[in-house]
Amino acid sequence: MQSTDDNIVILGTGGTIAGTAADPHDNVGYRAAQVGVEALVAAVPQLAGLSLQTEQVAQVDSKDMTHEVWQALALRVDHHLHRSDVRGIVITHGTDTLEETAYFLQRVLAPTKPVVFAAAMRPASSLRPDGPQNLLDAVRVASEAGARGVVAVLAGEVHGAAEVRKAHTYRTDAFSSGDEGPLAYVEEGRLRVLRAWPEGEAFGTDGLTRAPSAWPRVEIVTSHAGSDGRWVAALAALGAQGVVVAASGNGSVHQQLEAELLKLQAAGIRVLRSTRCASGPVLTTGSAVLPSAGLLTPVKARVELMLQLMAAG
Ligand code: ASP
Repeated sequence: MQSTDDNIVILGTGGTIAGTAADPHDNVGYRAAQVGVEALVAAVPQLAGLSLQTEQVAQVDSKDMTHEVWQALALRVDHHLHRSDVRGIVITHGTDTLEETAYFLQRVLAPTKPVVFAAAMRPASSLRPDGPQNLLDAVRVASEAGARGVVAVLAGEVHGAAEVRKAHTYRTDAFSSGDEGPLAYVEEGRLRVLRAWPEGEAFGTDGLTRAPSAWPRVEIVTSHAGSDGRWVAALAALGAQGVVVAASGNGSVHQQLEAELLKLQAAGIRVLRSTRCASGPVLTTGSAVLPSAGLLTPVKARVELMLQLMAAG
């Protein structure tokens, strides 16, 4: 690998992009996280000759993502971002929890260089894998002058960390930025940028140095027909410091569940209201008894609340 001031570091964490099946026609019965990141890069001839450095940070199916992996990944990304010879970072990741890891890294690091997630809906062994093109596009985005912040690239679309969510179980264009739409498109190696790159305040890595078992516990509960919320009291006993409710519609919560959540809030446990709806914020009125998570989806609201609690000590 060459060494210039334009190095791109590619960090591997697993996922379907690194998955294999016995049968090339099988795009669902595969095992994720089987191929190393170096081999993924070697499988894309157009990446040969570029100044790329690879590092395997983890090798997991992202449905099994842990705070331990997040801790290791955040610290490695932070390390490489501080290198003056690194232009940008690419992270290969599973699609299932990509939006959570992306939001976590954006809020912890708010990087001024691009940190670009590459993923795939089909395994590397597929007759027609989508991973190689997505990886190539991700390296392209990570090399773009002026690019910054945490984004994800799939199916030629670039999505910002705050908006990105997995919106389809199977299709290769599985990701969406909801009302906001993609931040940019990658078209034949060229970038068509539509909106500003992600930026904002960073929580920083100080809080992350503690063992993940000591990170604040934040759980998600869903409001649904018949939710009486009786088991919510158990969350306090489990040591939860925060609870996100995936509410219905514009943040409406079943009255019995709300009564239980208000008891938790009165006991000092932070509660945030997000929505089960696929799009839209939770708009509040002055009389709202549980605070809104705004535009954050339940899983991102969980990350946000965990980081806020971590920062508060
Ligand atoms: N279960 C896989 C993962 O998230 C799915 C994928 O990557 O598409 O690692």
